[in-house]
Amino acid sequence: RCGYVAIVGRPNVGKSTLLNHILGQKLAITSRKPQTTRHTLLGIKTEGAVQAIYVDTPGMHKDNDKALNRYMNRSASAALKDVDVVIFVVDRTRWTDEDQMVLERVKFVKCPVLLVVNKIDRLDDKGELLPHFQWLTAQLPEAEIVPVSAQHGQNLDTLEKLVGERL
Ligand code: GDP
Ligand code: MG
Repeated sequence: RCGYVAIVGRPNVGKSTLLNHILGQKLAITSRKPQTTRHTLLGIKTEGAVQAIYVDTPGMHKDNDKALNRYMNRSASAALKDVDVVIFVVDRTRWTDEDQMVLERVKFVKCPVLLVVNKIDRLDDKGELLPHFQWLTAQLPEAEIVPVSAQHGQNLDTLEKLVGERL
């Protein structure tokens, strides 16, 4: 099985960190600074009979006055077309206007969506997750929620397995 997997989300949620950890190499630059990923990047992971082509995207930005932001929003939206699986990355607790912007696009994709809740290593209280999960489920009832830590590699095996099953 083989297919394209788009990684989308607002800036700084950990999309590039996720891609790097899945590939086991530093393909994408990651940083605290938003707008580090300015272009779409492809990374190919082959494991057994499954070949997944991951597409890392620039985050979607709210501020549409700047040409660079518009460009990044366009390429992130374009990455949602013609893919087989979407990984929508959100933060462990926070939900912002920019997450909402991404959601409005992800809602309309026809392929399976995996809702990755990242940075769970930073969770002080696991109880925080439940209301967040309920909120996310209400927004995207069809999506499967996968809590991970992209940085520490927590639960990424599960994520990759779910991706493989949907290709
Ligand atoms: P992107 O803009 O969505 O591509 O985000 P990056 O991958 O560049 O990551 C943004 C920041 O979040 C960086 O400082 C990362 O080190 C940090 N980060 C990413 N994933 C995790 C995680 O699982 N846990 C923690 N604690 N930090 C993370
Ligand atoms: Mg990035």
